[in-house]
Amino acid sequence: MNNTNTPSSLIMIFGATGDLAKRKLYPSLYHLFRKGKISKKFAVVGVARRDWTNEQFKDHVETSVHNALGKNEDIKEFVSHFHYQSHDVSDSDSYRALKDLADELDNSYGLNGNRIFYLAMAPEFFGTITDHLKQDGLTNTDGFQRLVIEKPFGHDLESAEELNMQIRESFSEDQIYRIDHYLGKEMVQNIEVIRFANALFEPLWNNRYISNIQITSSEELGVEERGRYYEKSGALRDMVQNHMMQMVALLAMEPPIKLTTDEIRSEKVRVFRSLHSYNEEEVKENFVRGQYGPGVTVDGKVKGYREEDNVDEQSNTETYVAGKLSIDNFRWAGVPFYIRTGKRMEAKSTKIVIQFKDIPMNLYYNKDNSMSPNLLVIHIQPEEGITLHLNAKKSGQNIETTPVKLNFANNSFDGMNTPEAYEKLLHDCMRGDATNFTHWDEVKLSWAFVDKISDYWENTREQHFPNYEAGTMGPKEADQLLAKDGFFWWPVENLDVDQC
Ligand code: NAD
Repeated sequence: MNNTNTPSSLIMIFGATGDLAKRKLYPSLYHLFRKGKISKKFAVVGVARRDWTNEQFKDHVETSVHNALGKNEDIKEFVSHFHYQSHDVSDSDSYRALKDLADELDNSYGLNGNRIFYLAMAPEFFGTITDHLKQDGLTNTDGFQRLVIEKPFGHDLESAEELNMQIRESFSEDQIYRIDHYLGKEMVQNIEVIRFANALFEPLWNNRYISNIQITSSEELGVEERGRYYEKSGALRDMVQNHMMQMVALLAMEPPIKLTTDEIRSEKVRVFRSLHSYNEEEVKENFVRGQYGPGVTVDGKVKGYREEDNVDEQSNTETYVAGKLSIDNFRWAGVPFYIRTGKRMEAKSTKIVIQFKDIPMNLYYNKDNSMSPNLLVIHIQPEEGITLHLNAKKSGQNIETTPVKLNFANNSFDGMNTPEAYEKLLHDCMRGDATNFTHWDEVKLSWAFVDKISDYWENTREQHFPNYEAGTMGPKEADQLLAKDGFFWWPVENLDVDQC
């Protein structure tokens, strides 16, 4: 095990018996522990409603790690750092008991008063918890205090502003770490490096050479048991406002002056400020919503969204969004950024396709006189890698071209939302690096953009829902959106990275 420069800290997880903690946080902390990336001086306090003992909690953590990773070397030493406190979020006595426990652990582990409060709970509790953390003295220490907060950050701009104001009563902006786990993904972090470390790409990264950019994040699963949450959220709020728009910002931002948190975030903010904001007519023109009906997937026959548990049988909620974003600045004027995301689609895949403009004329004798455009494909998940699509000579006597692919395949960690992303983000937070967390200005501007679309959609019923069959790539209107501009969605299955 390595030694580490990561500062000591007390990590207090609210929602410690929940799904996120079990599937992501404990396995991630364990990885960090095993890799020696966590200070030896650390303690975790699990906080939740259930009346558990420390021993029950430790067993739970041990099982969670084992189920997620299939291994458990040094697990007893790892879980010896874990403690549990049963808790009622709105009761001051509960917080005072928590404070006593935190102070005691602070002394016994030598944690220097450094505290990370991780809110892995339903968002309606965020404000109440932060109020109490301050009022009941948990933030009153000599070390650092950091707040990690899960999505969703608000439901629209107004509720996000209210939540932000409430949280800011207790934590300053630089103490707040708003998680967008896409920003912890290896290939999302790689977007900046591909762009800014390659003389090959940066000169071409503009409207002179790029014809359009396509971002697809498709899921095979339906809403599963999250129907109640999803009915109020929909794909636009659940995926577009955060993950999809963050990827747009990383693709479109100007090179930062330095790789510091402030410089990178301020370039991302400038992208959001340049986004063309849509009026109702433009929403109709540039955004498509979909809802899945019954269909056939790899799992066999599946039901439609309206038949799912806790979903209204006349639901107007979208499970699919496709849209065209325009960035009104010198670099990007005229280049459409197409995004699409949905549930119960044909494949589980997140990919970015950068399509370059055609060469001025075709010199080769291809049968239909056509030539494939150059594409740079960034594979975010499940596979990770980059593919560059070029044209080369077809072997034989005729001078015809044929598309070829140059591949780089990362040794990927399988699965959406893998512990890997959380592991990186937890480590960043412990070290005080907020670069891969979203600043309030980004959240505010992305909600302002998304609100225009959701306001229109909520006030107009979509008469044709359900409008795509489960197991397909979404409604035909999403194809028409690109066809109007003379483009088409690059089929996900033809873009796969070949594993090295
Ligand atoms: P969950 O329902 O599985 O867990 C909720 C936790 O909150 C439990 O530990 C429960 O004991 C605790 N809790 C609920 N009411 C309480 C109360 N009154 N007092 C004290 N504790 C209480 O939820 P989850 O899936 O773990 O999600 C937590 C947060 O993370 C949510 O904001 C969710 O949107 C977000 N999130 C979850 C995932 C995921 O993969 N599960 C992914 C991204 C974001």
